[in-house]
Amino acid sequence: KALLARIDAVDPRVNAYITVRHDGALKAAADADARIARGEIAPLTGIPVGLKDIFVTKGVKTTCGSKILENFVPPYDGTAVAKLKAQGAVLLGKLNQDEFAMGSSSESSYFGTTKNPWDLECTPGGSSGGSAAAIAAQTATATLGTDTGGSIRQPASHCSCVGLKPTYGRVSRYGVIAYASSLDQVGPVTRDVTDAAIMLGAVAGYDPMDSTSVETPVPDYLASLEQGVKGLKIGLPKEYFIEGLDPDVKKAMDEAIATYRALGAEIKEVSLPHTEYAVATYYLVATAEASSNLARYDGVRFGHRTAEAKGLIDMFAKSRAEGFGAEVKRRIMLGTYALSSGYYDAYYLKAQKVRTLIRQDFTNALSEVDVLLTPVAPTPAFKLGEKVADPLQMYLSDIFTIPVNLAGTCGISLPAGFSAAGLPIGVQLIGRPFGEDAILQAARAFER
Ligand code: GLN
Repeated sequence: KALLARIDAVDPRVNAYITVRHDGALKAAADADARIARGEIAPLTGIPVGLKDIFVTKGVKTTCGSKILENFVPPYDGTAVAKLKAQGAVLLGKLNQDEFAMGSSSESSYFGTTKNPWDLECTPGGSSGGSAAAIAAQTATATLGTDTGGSIRQPASHCSCVGLKPTYGRVSRYGVIAYASSLDQVGPVTRDVTDAAIMLGAVAGYDPMDSTSVETPVPDYLASLEQGVKGLKIGLPKEYFIEGLDPDVKKAMDEAIATYRALGAEIKEVSLPHTEYAVATYYLVATAEASSNLARYDGVRFGHRTAEAKGLIDMFAKSRAEGFGAEVKRRIMLGTYALSSGYYDAYYLKAQKVRTLIRQDFTNALSEVDVLLTPVAPTPAFKLGEKVADPLQMYLSDIFTIPVNLAGTCGISLPAGFSAAGLPIGVQLIGRPFGEDAILQAARAFER
């Protein structure tokens, strides 16, 4: 009740929610009370959570931030949602995001921009901007987002939250609307590291409904959380400390390095030599996969259908033209181009090869050290509107997060102070594949 009242009071200004489940949440809370009375208590029983609107939720509108899915009410729950519900978590509502998770500022949502609760004139980041803004505005206890190129970590950084992108395959993508299937991964956005460990533990694990989920045991993430970083080898990738890094971000990084040293970690410079190709590689792979994934929105099976078509092809074209926003169209065109015959070898195939080199960079660096420490974003939250007209500038804001998705490994963003202007700054820890326990442990030591 308190959270619903707070949503009513502050969300008109923040716009973190697309859908609020006033009645549904109270009913779920009553069910949770009944479970607790029966002694059926799991870590998330009765905990009110918000979900990015990319998660398919049975009977609850799921828009993915797009007009084309404006009235889509799914007939089933995705696996992560079902797992939260099985523990008795209370679904408060569905959170705003960039359309189809394409963006870094939440400005491409059909349902209006989400504002950064720390400064309403700034972006909360994106695409899981609603997931981070709801935590910062204290309108949800924990949230789930998705991260294809930084969409959990970057908003977490801009809103002073903890955001974890697990290893590809750690969490099922079943019932998560697909953007770029080889990069998408589900993860928590939370107030602190312990909450992130609890949320990850609740949703992680093999799922026969997702053939890319991996059959490897889920550790007890809470068990190792307090073990500190004494003797931990932390690598600083030299390519991430570039000319032009915002001075406030640089300062937060320097302080984080000093903190880890003081906690007994060993700091070492490492190299990820193919870093400069990551953004270009990502925008070929991600747009190619998106162009294929978004072919299903044809006005027949899902969502918006045009009112005035002359024949079938015209109906496809008009429904898509009316239903998709500008950024989604730009990416469908880029991706279709990169996949078309004659260009496939030059662009898509080449990008796949460079992706392998980038993955090898991480394998090499993470054989010398246990984790990597980097900035999350090159600047604190930028002003709303500042980068809308310049997509390339927007794309470059993910320069430190994108390589992790290309490599398929895990990364966590954690609060590391504030800029001179009072905006949050995060730092990122990157771990070995399925090494979420190690980065959570290192993050927890820093937080403490
Ligand atoms: N900003 C990146 C993009 O637009 C990443 C988004 C994401 O991780 N979903 O593709």
